Amino acid sequence: MQCQTVLPGHECVFWKKSGCTFEGNSCQNVIEMCEGCERIAEGTIGPVCSVAPSPLQKWSHGLCNFATHRKVEVKIEEIKVNPLKASKKAAAKRK
Ligand code: SF4
Repeated sequence: MQCQTVLPGHECVFWKKSGCTFEGNSCQNVIEMCEGCERIAEGTIGPVCSVAPSPLQKWSHGLCNFATHRKVEVKIEEIKVNPLKASKKAAAKRK
């Protein structure tokens, strides 16, 4: 249903006939880590997240998985290759 309070007209799974069913009966404002995210929307209570009612919860276990401004850095460690085994493998493939 569509939100009638914080983001009027915005489709929200927490909005029911009885009103907002999220904890505290309202979305919560974005937090510092959200700065720069494209999902921030201006609500009637100030800046809120358009996809998550509680930005604090989204960041409580690390990077928010909906964030558009930050990505997970994956470090690929150099794989140690034994040159002797690599040479034998390459030779075997040539046969
Ligand atoms: S998607 Fe995540 S980072 Fe972006 S505004 Fe929402 S809670 Fe904040």
